[in-house]
Amino acid sequence: MDDTPDDSAALLQLLGTPGTAVFLDFDGTLVDLASTPDGVRLEAGVVEALALLAERHGGALALISGRPIVQIDAMLAPLTLPVAGVHGVERRGADGVLHVAATPDVSPVLARAQALAERYPGLLVEQKRGAVALHYRLAPDLEQLCLQEMTAAVQACPGVLLLHGKMVLEAKPAATDKGGAIAAFMQETPFAGRRPVFAGDDTTDEAGFAYVQLAGGQGVKVGKGPSAATLRLASPGALRAALLTASVSPFKE
Ligand SMILES: [Mg+2]
Repeated sequence: MDDTPDDSAALLQLLGTPGTAVFLDFDGTLVDLASTPDGVRLEAGVVEALALLAERHGGALALISGRPIVQIDAMLAPLTLPVAGVHGVERRGADGVLHVAATPDVSPVLARAQALAERYPGLLVEQKRGAVALHYRLAPDLEQLCLQEMTAAVQACPGVLLLHGKMVLEAKPAATDKGGAIAAFMQETPFAGRRPVFAGDDTTDEAGFAYVQLAGGQGVKVGKGPSAATLRLASPGALRAALLTASVSPFKE
């Protein structure tokens, strides 16, 4: 039996409260994880629910992802939302303005990850702006080797930090994280002055939970595992159900 606590009712209440700003991770939060990043599928009705919810909250709904913004846009098309990509390295505000953080040189990490992936075809390397992700979901036995290689590679790159997510090791700028991305949105219209809620499922989301809770809001951890988030949902399916319900519930702002 799944004994993951279910705070759907509390989340629904937040989503139905005027003055809320909604921040959502994508992979493992809005969509179920797949064997490769390209393999995820957004369930029917979710884009429409996001559009309705954004409208209800005065446009204060943003995606906060480790993916590049261009991928999030493609997944949500034709909907365009405010979005932070690559854990905050890229950020497009509600005004459409793109902000890109300065990033350290990650080319030595990229070279090392690619060399490893050439030796082990189960590994998948993703090159992003200022970041390199090494996915070992198709070769879980290689976790320790990947960890060793990426740790060594990152040590040679000042200003780069290694993040250990679900079946992925990601070298990213130490200076940017999801908490900083949400904080930047909260300085801007239409987010400013609202109470932030952030749902996420992985290590990278903890910085977001810490920020929103410090700012008087709530973090929502999706799935199992230790987390600083105050609320918990069992699965991406539970989050989608809450979003769909909230998008059609009576609400006035
Ligand atoms: Mg995620």
